[in-house]
Amino acid sequence: LYGYAGTTLRINLSENDIVKEALSEELVDEYIGGRGFVAKTLFDELPPNTEPFDPENLFIIAMGPLSGTFSPATGKTHFGTKSPATGGYGDSNMGGHFGVEMKYAGYDMIVINGKAEKPSYIFIENDKVEIRPAEKYWGRGSFDVEKAMKEEMGEEYQILTIGPAGENLVKFACISHDFGRQAGRIGIGAVLGSKNIKAIVMRGTKDVPVFDPKKLYESGRETYFAAKEKPGYTGWTPQGTAGITDWCNDVGAMPTRNFQTSHNDYASDINGQAILDKLKITDKGCFGCPIPCGKYGHAKTSMGSTYMEGPEYETIAMLGSNCDLADIDEIAYTNFICDELGIDTCSAGVVVSWALECYDRGIFTQEDFGMEVSFGDLKSVVKILELISYREKIGDLLAEGVKGASERVGKGTEKFAIHVKGLEWTGYESRNAPGMMLGYMTADIGAHHGRCWVLGNDVAGSAEAGCVGDLISEGSSVEKFPKAKVKGVSPIVINSQHIRPAFDILGTCRLQYMEIGLETFHYERNYEAVTGKPFKWEDLMTLSEKIWNLNRCFNFREIEDFGRKYDYPPARFYEEPIPNGPNEGHFITFDEINEMLDEFYEARGWDEEGRPTAEKLQQLGISLGVRA
Ligand code: SF4
Repeated sequence: LYGYAGTTLRINLSENDIVKEALSEELVDEYIGGRGFVAKTLFDELPPNTEPFDPENLFIIAMGPLSGTFSPATGKTHFGTKSPATGGYGDSNMGGHFGVEMKYAGYDMIVINGKAEKPSYIFIENDKVEIRPAEKYWGRGSFDVEKAMKEEMGEEYQILTIGPAGENLVKFACISHDFGRQAGRIGIGAVLGSKNIKAIVMRGTKDVPVFDPKKLYESGRETYFAAKEKPGYTGWTPQGTAGITDWCNDVGAMPTRNFQTSHNDYASDINGQAILDKLKITDKGCFGCPIPCGKYGHAKTSMGSTYMEGPEYETIAMLGSNCDLADIDEIAYTNFICDELGIDTCSAGVVVSWALECYDRGIFTQEDFGMEVSFGDLKSVVKILELISYREKIGDLLAEGVKGASERVGKGTEKFAIHVKGLEWTGYESRNAPGMMLGYMTADIGAHHGRCWVLGNDVAGSAEAGCVGDLISEGSSVEKFPKAKVKGVSPIVINSQHIRPAFDILGTCRLQYMEIGLETFHYERNYEAVTGKPFKWEDLMTLSEKIWNLNRCFNFREIEDFGRKYDYPPARFYEEPIPNGPNEGHFITFDEINEMLDEFYEARGWDEEGRPTAEKLQQLGISLGVRA
């Protein structure tokens, strides 16, 4: 099997049972790798109706055929589990070097179930797999533990850790790696915490078999330099994702004060240029990346200073403007606090801003927080992040995520709890961006921009839009946008939903394609050189569609009353017009929301509740077996 290490590692923590088995060729043929492996394994092997924190929930790590090869930017690691945030399908993706090391250790996939008796970490060095005690690391921050483990074992060991939030089962706890790379969103860190696992340590020194090394050397080298020569490179790479800050604000898409509005007057103080001027020390990239987007820097605030990676645009939007922090050092500091505590910055930004709005409305009091709190105040944001991570005071409620917290509080707070399916929204306000809105609404894991990003199309009002690097270079000077049309956006959304899994399946970063417009033939040539198999981009799109449908079936199976109502956005988005900025006065009505869903379901071959029809499943070759 060229391109694969050839082994699946299974660890049952309850039984202390470690089994290595040959990677299934059937799985490789049908699902290729990464997100494909996760979706299929989770559907087939998770006992139906397992609760996310039950020991029987699965924690899966899966790599793709390109991972760790000479194909550029293949340092992404894919994770999967039943999500504590949504109770449905969950996967997550992390940059850095961990997964590459895992493949060099000889494993394409690791499937963990059960629960360790006491705090432990998993140590893997090639064929050696051990479950070791971790009491001395328990309770400590993610970076602190990664640093301590590297000092103890050696720099060459790749480490992923959870922070106190994961130990305390915060529903949006993440995994940290490489002092600034995270697998976030769906609460995967809390699942590891529920299994009493603080860290996984990985070291590998084996080869990945490649079908035609000479051809891969040539095509991989060409891909690397082609990325550096794309026009979008100069617009995007120097600032990374933060480079899009001004554009998002200028097109009225920057969440501000818990999505009360979509435009602020301080974006230029917290943009990519501010990072370069005030924070940045050096670029930082994942394994083999030609366009390193990480910005490692030094943040200085009234609460202290720290070295840290980031912040990316999403963090700037969610912990910055959405909490009304207008200082890039302060945003970077909150980014560091989240990373050390082990919580997803996007979800944290939504939960903190929702709590601050509740406080402003008199629903929460000073006593709930142990201090006065307000939007735009660094001490308030840091305090709430700490309360959440240790489940203290109001933090115990907030640790349930904005859906769980608002349902318990009631009093109309659900209307401004910004999530879909229980997953908090991210950095793109969409009240005049119907494609983006529909993408958030229908994503399998909940409201995540990583599943579909069509904001450029929404702004252009067209199926054609440049890559992000081009959008940044062009900028926007529109003073007032007309109300966008909702009809006809489904094909653009579905197309974006199908493109994105392709990179997670292959085991490569998507940003070279999305942000700077690298052509798909590069991936085709590298795949063929690695595996020796023919490859067509259209076939990969069909596999993406299959995975989307399989995950939709997973959600119907695992969430009792799953259906159309789980695809609705929060009421703020269809009841409150945007109060200022270039989209002032606009919102998408509830009738329009339903029109979009009708059109989307029909285009996907789903019924009126959004359930894949028998014909669609048959067409895609999906058999649900007895678990449907
Ligand atoms: Fe990692 Fe960024 Fe490069 Fe992607 S573009 S591989 S996330 S450094």
